[in-house]
Amino acid sequence: MDLDGRRESTNVEDRRGMSGGAKAGLGGGIMGIIIALVAMFMGGGDLGSILGQMGQMGGITMQESTDQNGQPVEFSQEEQELATFSKKILGGTEDVWSKIFQEQGLGEYKDPKMVLYSGSTSTACGQGQAAMGPFYCSGDQSLYLDLSFFMTMKQQLGADGDFSYAYVIAHEVGHHVEYLTGVLQQIHSKMARYGQGSAQANKESVRIELLADYLAGCWAHYDNARFGSVQDGDLEEAIDCAQKIGDDYLQKRAQGYAMPESFTHGTSQQRMRWFKAGYQTGDVKRGINSAMQLDYSQL
Ligand SMILES: [Zn+2]
Repeated sequence: MDLDGRRESTNVEDRRGMSGGAKAGLGGGIMGIIIALVAMFMGGGDLGSILGQMGQMGGITMQESTDQNGQPVEFSQEEQELATFSKKILGGTEDVWSKIFQEQGLGEYKDPKMVLYSGSTSTACGQGQAAMGPFYCSGDQSLYLDLSFFMTMKQQLGADGDFSYAYVIAHEVGHHVEYLTGVLQQIHSKMARYGQGSAQANKESVRIELLADYLAGCWAHYDNARFGSVQDGDLEEAIDCAQKIGDDYLQKRAQGYAMPESFTHGTSQQRMRWFKAGYQTGDVKRGINSAMQLDYSQL
């Protein structure tokens, strides 16, 4: 993918190098606290809200980020490049989805937030663990991403996996689109009625996962139309990645901890078909109707 000149999203909270999310407000580390204290003495501002703002700005003061022992955290060039890449992809999804919502009469698109973290972090959906892979939490309308996930992918898929990374982000943004259109809530309440982990609930989960793949395809359709970003082999590469490093695989490693939206994802063949259908049509409502109305055996 060629992302030169594309803007980075500003809806990013950088919690990398923090432990467990306990310091979630202290994005600027030591430097952040000093700035906040200075601001407080000078302006009499509220420390909590200033620290909150520092958290929002965490990505700007990367060099001053500290780990749980107060040691500065340094990011490799590879990780910094992945952070920039992820911000650009997210920015692209914002542009594309706000246009799709407008054009297809889906109301107003509200940007999700992307939280970059390392290891574990607190979310409105419980404690997020890197071993779970990237996930979306509708409770705080945020995508959670530990960039080491991409480095693991890179080791397994080789260096040319950037479209796969974009697909992973677009899939999580797909869950956000499901939330904004009300589909996610409908299916979650069905799943709750069936009982988490039941076969029926798992079937419902497949619906939202395949739809998220379809919506990632819609994103690729419009992103490509606008920027010519999809190259030969990219689609196959993205699906290959879904197969090799799916949430299922990662969830097994996480042992028993499962986010509601990530129980089962359908077969690789299904995922390929839904992603391609979204890519070919770009028709959001058609994908939602299919995912909601088709008999499970027809998905
Ligand atoms: Zn998913």
